[in-house]
Amino acid sequence: MGIVIYWDYRSVDGIQLPVQRIISAVIGSPVELILGDHFPLEGYHRIRRQYDGGRIINRISLFKRLHGIQDHFLLVIPDDIYADSSDFVFGLARDSIGSAVVSTARLENEYYGLPGDIHLIIERTAKEGAHELGHLLGLEHCSVPECIMYRPESLSELDRKERYFCPECRLQLPPIR
Ligand SMILES: [Zn+2]
Ligand SMILES: [Zn+2]
Repeated sequence: MGIVIYWDYRSVDGIQLPVQRIISAVIGSPVELILGDHFPLEGYHRIRRQYDGGRIINRISLFKRLHGIQDHFLLVIPDDIYADSSDFVFGLARDSIGSAVVSTARLENEYYGLPGDIHLIIERTAKEGAHELGHLLGLEHCSVPECIMYRPESLSELDRKERYFCPECRLQLPPIR
């Protein structure tokens, strides 16, 4: 089964290829990149001004069925998302249907009133994307702070992670084909 990244065209532009390359290197598998349209989202919460991540995952599942996509599917969007248990999430994955989403909203320095940094947004999007794809490949959260499968509670914890799966997580990754 392959891996597809669908990049909603409204997401940060100009970093698609480096993010694809890093994710592919970290996971150790080829990753296909689709430069997509405005992905049909649902689950907007008017008061929170965020999308319900769970409903976006449902929508991805429908999209995959409509287009006959069997691959693991990672959607990248610029919209802020929340989940049942969290006020916000950088991303979300549901391995049972091979679908995941990453939001770049809170990965950009600009969100925090800081000057933009192209290298940081590439690193953060790639690490978060690799993390969600790790879930789709069957991995759970890891307690090693540098490991891709560590669950960051903040941007600084995300920045502390390295571009790698710790040895224990790496053992659980499916063999490279
Ligand atoms: Zn996670
Ligand atoms: Zn680990």
